Amino acid sequence: MNNSVNQSIKPVTTKINSSNHIEIGGCDLVNLAKEFETPLYVIDEQTLRKVCKEYKQAFSLYEKVKFLYASKALCTSAITKIISDEGFGFDVVSDGELYTINNADINMEKVLFNGSNKTEAEIKLALKYNIGRFSVDNFAELSLLNEIAGNYNKQAKILLRITPGIECHTHEYVQTGNLDSKFGFDLSQIDEAVNLIKDKYTNLSLKGLHAHIGSQIFETQVYYDEIDILIKELDRIRREHNLTLNELNIGGGLGVKYTESDNPPSIYKIADIIVNSIKNSCKNYNYEYPTIYLEPGRSIISTAGVTLYTVGSQKQVPNGKKYVAVDGGMADNPRPSLYQSEYYAQVANKPNQSCNEKITVAGRYCESGDILIKDIKLPTLEKGDILCVYNTGAYNYSMASNYNRTKRATMVLVNSGHSDMIIKRESLNDLIKNDIIPSRLNK
Ligand SMILES: *Cc1c(COP(=O)(O)O)cnc(C)c1O
Repeated sequence: MNNSVNQSIKPVTTKINSSNHIEIGGCDLVNLAKEFETPLYVIDEQTLRKVCKEYKQAFSLYEKVKFLYASKALCTSAITKIISDEGFGFDVVSDGELYTINNADINMEKVLFNGSNKTEAEIKLALKYNIGRFSVDNFAELSLLNEIAGNYNKQAKILLRITPGIECHTHEYVQTGNLDSKFGFDLSQIDEAVNLIKDKYTNLSLKGLHAHIGSQIFETQVYYDEIDILIKELDRIRREHNLTLNELNIGGGLGVKYTESDNPPSIYKIADIIVNSIKNSCKNYNYEYPTIYLEPGRSIISTAGVTLYTVGSQKQVPNGKKYVAVDGGMADNPRPSLYQSEYYAQVANKPNQSCNEKITVAGRYCESGDILIKDIKLPTLEKGDILCVYNTGAYNYSMASNYNRTKRATMVLVNSGHSDMIIKRESLNDLIKNDIIPSRLNK
């Protein structure tokens, strides 16, 4: 079976050019660092488009499939445009994501609103935009959505987010499908929810079920299990409530290759397993094939992104580690300090030198936990070297902060030698633009 983008550490256009520098999207990374300053997020458009095409190709044997990009992985206006251009819809979780997508002129029918605690204002905005689906997470939200939809004289089309009770062996913080999760209805609560929708909540129209079992998933068995549980529930709802639902959202979660030791399955393999599981379960329960929604986030955007840093100071602990500091860290990439995530890096201006030294890449922020990469073998680093950290497209900028009152990093989109800024460089003025000094302090 074919390999896919999520099985590669580097963007597909990565190479070493005639100046002996790393180049991505036809752009020399050392030049990009000079032109746009570091830290710098670089997104390779060809990698992003390729992975979208792989998803479409991999699922081409199942006609009723819809792709919703999980915007929380990286939501910017330009990225949204590209992913929409590739035929994807969007999974959103906030008013900010809704606003960004609507502002990029996307057909809002292709948007699904997720989240376990949507605010009233967010629900109103989503109804105003006429989004396609709401995934309703709990009883309070059923009632709230019904009420607001009623006030607007609208019918909200919903999926019920359920917790199928599956454990996947990923980091505890990114597991979402086990029974003790904060997300979704327990299986035992589905009947009550369905009854409420049928008998009482006349402004809700139930279309199907939704589950999302976790993130950075490498196992394939979990998808079999998840799909069987969901279709079994569809069958039960059909029998016990005389209600045939024909939509199933099976979430996202496919893993990517951050380091050599990661071996995620290919998109083709996952597609094969998902499609076969659906066909099998539908046959077993004699259920018509439902429309399937997939919500990949990380596997769409992670590999397309790298972050460039400039090497600064160094510290050799006597008889201990050597720390090399760069000009970014937990504010542009909180994942290592949040989840002990691992990354691979190379030196953009000396990619061919032998990796003779084991060092730890430290961030610049005032936290001992601000370590970007522990114990990586690299060529001897000098001040001014440009470090390229791979696979930072997902959950980096989207989780970034202004910690230590630093400016958030700029983002450029590269393709065939073009480099276009898609997130502007932040200025010192941007950092204080929302500050207010109450007049009584100025006396
Ligand atoms: C986070 C999330 C996703 C995307 O997960 P990835 O691991 O980035 O693919 C999809 N659906 C829901 C409900 C999520 O919470």
